[in-house]
Amino acid sequence: MIVMKFGGTSVQDAAAIRSVIHIVQNKLSKRPALVVSALAGATNHLLESARLAVAGQKHNAEAILKKLHERHSGLSAELIKPIAEREKVETFLKTTFDKLQSLVDGVSLLGELTDRSLDMFAAQGELLSSTIIASAFREAGVDALWLDIREVMITDDQFTAAAPDTNLLKNHSARLIKPALEKGKLIVTQGFIGNTKDGITTTLGRGGSDYTAALLGAALDANDIEIWTDVDGVLTSDPKMVHEAKRVKIMTFQEASELAYFGAKVLHPATITPAVERNIPVHVFNTKNPVSSGTLITAKHDRTLEGVNNCVIKSIAYKKNITILNIASTRMLLAHGFLYSIFEVFKRLKISVDVISTTEVSVSLTIDFSDKLDEAVHELKRFAQVTVEQERAIVCLVGEQMRYTPGIAARTFNAIRDVNINMISQGASEINLTFVIAQSDVDTVVKRLHDEFFSGPLPSAIFE
Ligand code: ASP
Ligand code: MG
Repeated sequence: MIVMKFGGTSVQDAAAIRSVIHIVQNKLSKRPALVVSALAGATNHLLESARLAVAGQKHNAEAILKKLHERHSGLSAELIKPIAEREKVETFLKTTFDKLQSLVDGVSLLGELTDRSLDMFAAQGELLSSTIIASAFREAGVDALWLDIREVMITDDQFTAAAPDTNLLKNHSARLIKPALEKGKLIVTQGFIGNTKDGITTTLGRGGSDYTAALLGAALDANDIEIWTDVDGVLTSDPKMVHEAKRVKIMTFQEASELAYFGAKVLHPATITPAVERNIPVHVFNTKNPVSSGTLITAKHDRTLEGVNNCVIKSIAYKKNITILNIASTRMLLAHGFLYSIFEVFKRLKISVDVISTTEVSVSLTIDFSDKLDEAVHELKRFAQVTVEQERAIVCLVGEQMRYTPGIAARTFNAIRDVNINMISQGASEINLTFVIAQSDVDTVVKRLHDEFFSGPLPSAIFE
């Protein structure tokens, strides 16, 4: 049994869905359960229509829905030829868009948009795409069974970020999914969405389909979880910046989670947890380049690689638009509770803090760009001096071998010795080295470090 997840760009149009069908047909003997995302952009459009409706722009909201309906109908017309099957799909589309119309009416009438309503809007994208895809599989002669994941993915009622009940998922999957897979049916279901125990639709958070795939993989005790996306897997750096970036064939969960914050383009960070706990390998593959072996993410660090040269660093990531806050108080010296007061402010304003470094009298920390920055500074100034440095960037080198290899920091900072470093941090796990620089230096720094660590001969077991 395997779980295969196809993201939005992998199912964005008829050609993409045909590739998906082709890919899956070659894996049928592994008994796949498919988790699909909404068509690329569909979730954004649905949420946009909700926001327009509550803002009193009902016509614009309806215009978006109309376009989305046409897009889905067009897709079904392209992919599904038998009249009876297509009519079934068309009916489902119509019912769904009627429901969305009622939601738009309701939201604009009330002038209120709750998270619960937002989830109701957003969830339709996956229901629509999966219905068309399941039908397209049947058209291709595959015995596909559409499953409403909400029957098995029971969550709490934290709308827009609901937490699933993994025990229930396991029980329900054993009853509703496993037997079908064993009979040789292909399950086609939705990522991202769930139900409260009272049957109210929820979502797991944006990008949540990867999480669904991992949860389902864990519940089914799958042999493999395959995340099919639109890149060749994890690369040694952003290929837009570093043209020579190479594919990382294998990395650990820890390395992947360290990278997840930087872009999360490849994997949703939370994906990692359910798979790690059960030691299920996660493969990242490219729907547009299915012959590539992608990136394998495994729970275990490969001890045989210790001491092997040139695979200490697996990837160099960066993130722009970072703000540094320097918070100082002479009272911090020997005082207790200072850090508490600082983090209490960030907790209250729901701002997440990333890199931190402290001295005896000051704390420097980074946050992503936030519209609550002024408020945070105002609050902090009640008990400390605060300076703000904007347009910064975080650069992060990740690799488990770092733990066993001396000299990495020296090589790193030597390669960029003319660049001003604002902050440095190395977590206790010692698998990443993170520092903050001016945004304008990012290009130079990332390229030079890539040269430093990846230009020599590299072990072909790890890089391509
Ligand atoms: N469709 C959802 C989103 O765009 C979930 C996903 O694609 O993972 O966030
Ligand atoms: Mg995604």
